[in-house]
Amino acid sequence: MRPWFLVNRVMIFSRSRKGTLLRTSPSSCSSFICFKFGGCAKLVCSAPIAQLDRVPGFEPGGYRFESCSVQMISIFYHTQDSFADTIFAQLGKGRLHARSLYGYFMRRGTIEGFEVEPEAERLKGEILERTSFELPGYRVVVEDGGTVKFLVDMGEGLEAEAVLIPMKSKTTLCVSSQVGCKMGCTFCETGRMGLLKSLGREEIVAQVAIAVHGLGRQVDNIVFMGMGEPFDNFDEVMGAIGVLCGGLGFGPSRITVSTSGVVDMMDRFTEEADPGVHLAVSVNAPNDEVRKRVMPVNRKWNMAELKGAMARFCAGGKREILVEYVLMEGINDSLESADELAEYLRGLRVKVNLIPYNPQKKDRFAPPGQDVIEAFAKKMKENGYLTLVRQTKGQQIRAACGQLGGVDKVKIWTQTKKIGRMEA
Ligand code: SF4
Repeated sequence: MRPWFLVNRVMIFSRSRKGTLLRTSPSSCSSFICFKFGGCAKLVCSAPIAQLDRVPGFEPGGYRFESCSVQMISIFYHTQDSFADTIFAQLGKGRLHARSLYGYFMRRGTIEGFEVEPEAERLKGEILERTSFELPGYRVVVEDGGTVKFLVDMGEGLEAEAVLIPMKSKTTLCVSSQVGCKMGCTFCETGRMGLLKSLGREEIVAQVAIAVHGLGRQVDNIVFMGMGEPFDNFDEVMGAIGVLCGGLGFGPSRITVSTSGVVDMMDRFTEEADPGVHLAVSVNAPNDEVRKRVMPVNRKWNMAELKGAMARFCAGGKREILVEYVLMEGINDSLESADELAEYLRGLRVKVNLIPYNPQKKDRFAPPGQDVIEAFAKKMKENGYLTLVRQTKGQQIRAACGQLGGVDKVKIWTQTKKIGRMEA
């Protein structure tokens, strides 16, 4: 099980033997950490784990962390069923109460007022003691027009960015699956950062919980179009979708996952995802030559391979794909490009979403003029495709498509090493 947050202090209350459970400090963590001690602890102390060697009474090397495991359960890691199962596995009872506590919390965002019958008070206490309901810290940036960007603390100075986008009658939440991204798309600010961290499912779910319970906003749709390539963090993204559907009550059809074209994982998604979950694919180019220039992923899987994966997703005629196409002046915005794109997509069940390029801190591209955008959209429609031009929202707060993150932040995160980057 993944810890909800890093436990960095240990409180030792008594003499400890091999395998003794030690309560962590601060006690509000309500978590337990299991140490396999090579020797006995002789005193009561509180210290950062990294400094235990320096605590009087501890002999350096007198303890080992080899079987250390955090037992605390983050509510955001679990579906209602898996939370109940986990509590039952630990306590040998409590499945029913765990389920109702989970449902109560997910509806309200608090456990205040959760009551049980008097004879179950002790059981409730045991469940609460093992469960973390804490959300990570976050800070909010608001733009006129209602677009809200919030930055969520992911530890080690890293922040994941999420954006609430009000539409006509509904609100979409764009979540991040990673901090940074290794895919290196040249039109994307996040891509310039390299990959700094892949988020755990509870960290992805927390972004939704912050929007709903922290900011008190209604979220109608969730799109995995924030920082990161969701299929580079496949298992956690799928786990998060499971929690969103089996915990926070989102129907699969309210969720869209967007990929830059990680073909092998697209096939896994086709096999494993609930058929209701939508897939978006960033195509962004009419041919391999252009796509290689703007999306390094095309060097690994070319457009023919990408089309194959899209066809397998659509096979059976029930599912369709949202094709995303960032329009960049002089790169991919000509009418010939529109015809070539239309030809490429022939035979697939797709909708086309045109996204005018959003300005970045160090621009390599520019958005086409409005007349060019409209002509491109018209051409796609003439070719028989349902085509929409995405309205730009959140530019002022750098929350629009392709603007999240930024290389200046990487400089701030001096402690953090990039863990991956594809070069164009
Ligand atoms: S567009 Fe998506 S996949 Fe490409 S670098 Fe940006 S976040 Fe990563």
